Amino acid sequence: MKAQPKASHFVNGAYVEDSAGAVIEVIYPATGEVIARLREATPAVVEAALAAAHAAQKAWGQTRPVERARILRRAADLIRDRNADLSWLETLDTGKPLQETTVADWPSGADALEFFAGLAPSVTGETVPLGRDFVYTLREPLGVCVGIGAWNYPSQIACWKAAPALAMGNAMVFKPSEVTPLGALQLAEILVEAGLPAGLFNVVQGRGAVGGALVTDPRVAKVSLTGSVPTGRRVYAAAADGVRHVTMELGGKSPLIIFDDADLESAVGAAMLGNFYSAGQVCSNGTRVFVQRGIKDRFLARLAERTAAITLGDPLDMATQMGPLVSAAQCDKVMGYVETAKAEGARLICGGALGADLAGCFVQPTVFADVTDTMTLAREEVFGPVMAVLDFADEEEAVTRANATEFGLAAGVFTADLTRAHRVVAALEAGTCWINAYNLTPVEGPFGGSKLSGVGRENGKAAVEHYTQIKSVYVGMGPVDSPY
Ligand code: NDP
Repeated sequence: MKAQPKASHFVNGAYVEDSAGAVIEVIYPATGEVIARLREATPAVVEAALAAAHAAQKAWGQTRPVERARILRRAADLIRDRNADLSWLETLDTGKPLQETTVADWPSGADALEFFAGLAPSVTGETVPLGRDFVYTLREPLGVCVGIGAWNYPSQIACWKAAPALAMGNAMVFKPSEVTPLGALQLAEILVEAGLPAGLFNVVQGRGAVGGALVTDPRVAKVSLTGSVPTGRRVYAAAADGVRHVTMELGGKSPLIIFDDADLESAVGAAMLGNFYSAGQVCSNGTRVFVQRGIKDRFLARLAERTAAITLGDPLDMATQMGPLVSAAQCDKVMGYVETAKAEGARLICGGALGADLAGCFVQPTVFADVTDTMTLAREEVFGPVMAVLDFADEEEAVTRANATEFGLAAGVFTADLTRAHRVVAALEAGTCWINAYNLTPVEGPFGGSKLSGVGRENGKAAVEHYTQIKSVYVGMGPVDSPY
């Protein structure tokens, strides 16, 4: 299987190669096969990308929003037309099953382009009357934005960052994770085909050092990172030096609270979606499932039954429900957490082993019960298909324990009592919450974290604020009244 792109980088409207860059091997995690060889961006490539973005941004920022919108909408249409091919590539890049990538990854990227295209022409300032004088405000683009992506939703992340940035008149230099470098190049190509002027969306490949060079460049006005908390801290600190705007979408250890009166099948289904989709490699996963004692046994029995029926295997087979983890390193990390959970006394309900008879980095969907708050499994982000079930007696206890974490990305509650649902959600310290649902992130709704899980919001109207700045203009309508 080969998925070699035309070149490693996309700069100023064209593919670019610099053979001096260190080699990045792209591995299909279902088989371990090398499907492409790319090069890390050298300083010359990084410079070319930043210079192109800087040169192109001014005119783009002055382009009528309806024209910008038309291009983004065209790009969304092209993505939808090519969804089958793009999803195949996404599956090779990430190992996620085609059953998921065809409905979740590029389609949600197209949604973002369409949504922000729709929003762009309606973004306006305000007029503030002051009697004779007045103030008016302009919402201006920030300038050159840097996007840095994680490997779990590489193409969705590229679209979620590019769409609001471009819609609001900015330029972007995007660095994908070196583990999943292929999708962003496709996006760059599609945007140009849709009519985006050269230089406005550039892709440079590389590891952390390339990201570091982008973040500290004086031409850069904003950095949007999706990644882990340790990387977020580093990037946030580096951006602070130049007082740059930031959006940080970081990790989590989100609680999903299931009360006795919840609909059992829905609660089990949501807990599975919130732990096993994308083989558990989703930042907002509800990895601490708090189940009230009255429903616990029935919940675990049904969960074990439904989990055992998950089809693990070849991600290119449309019948496969769960693929491998993204890399051998991630597989080792996840299996390390499984062993620690066993050693610390969590009760294994199902899974807990590598995918039998499969060549790649497969981990069986795994459930641990009787997990306590102090166990490693309840405190650290695993980023794999490992669910921790904890039990609780009452609402106050559940909320207190759910909030006892440094993360604050997401949270969910399942109950038939709507008053309780709203009360609990109001008390939960998380940026994104669900009531009787889990992990649905439509582009229309803002998404992001509180506490260590991040700052800023992606998606929704909220994202406009994070890709624009307000210019306030005072207009004097009469003679200047001066005491001097
Ligand atoms: P990492 O934090 O390891 O990396 C994220 C990105 O930052 C990568 O492109 C990485 O490059 C780059 N990077 C690393 N060091 C630096 C640096 N010093 N300066 C600039 N860029 C740098 O995350 P993963 O890719 O491992 O992704 C998993 C993590 O992402 C999880 O913790 C997960 O929770 C989080 N995540 C959060 C989401 C959210 O929206 N809140 C969504 C998805 C994931 P490279 O990989 O090439 O080293």
